[in-house]
Amino acid sequence: MLNFCLEMNLHLRACCAKASGSSGVPMFIQIQQLEVHPIDFDEKLDPGQIDFGAELQQTGDLRATGRAQLIEEHHGKHLTIQDIRVNGELAATFQMACARCLEAVSQKLAHKFDLLYRPLGADAGKEELSVTAVEAEISYYEGDGLLLEDVLREQVLLAVPLKAICREDCKGLCPHCGKNLNLTQCSCEEPLEDPRWSALKEIRSKLEQ
Ligand SMILES: [Zn+2]
Ligand SMILES: [Zn+2]
Repeated sequence: MLNFCLEMNLHLRACCAKASGSSGVPMFIQIQQLEVHPIDFDEKLDPGQIDFGAELQQTGDLRATGRAQLIEEHHGKHLTIQDIRVNGELAATFQMACARCLEAVSQKLAHKFDLLYRPLGADAGKEELSVTAVEAEISYYEGDGLLLEDVLREQVLLAVPLKAICREDCKGLCPHCGKNLNLTQCSCEEPLEDPRWSALKEIRSKLEQ
């Protein structure tokens, strides 16, 4: 009986994970699937499932919900271009270093996106894109689809500020000893004056006498 329960439990968990797409398995948005129906996603990604680079740390879940659908462009009788539209929103909290004192700064991110992915090469050699193509945010996909994780990574990196400071009046680090001046005062002198300037000052004060 215990065995049976465990098995059922595992089975159920596996099913739920699959339905919500949060099993940790990368979610691939496939053209063949989109040809049948749009794909709705509701993802909950743990820190580490998407690599945002060394400077940005995800803290807590990243939630992403939205829909991927196929948009077919007909060019004449025979050419059909299959674009993928991905729209939705994401929310997550990140940590990055304060640009002045390097202490961790928390950044809450909530971001909406509406993107159009065209097949790589679809616009090659074209002089101009259609108005809709220029207005929307255009990217390209290669092969038979795209990874949702790649979409989300790009959107996060676009949405986070390049620099963050821990607080408006952050005093930063002492340029001489490297101490965090928000936490402690150091005994470093004010920047030493260049002796050549002191000499000039002396001459000047003599002239002014
Ligand atoms: Zn700071
Ligand atoms: Zn110092």
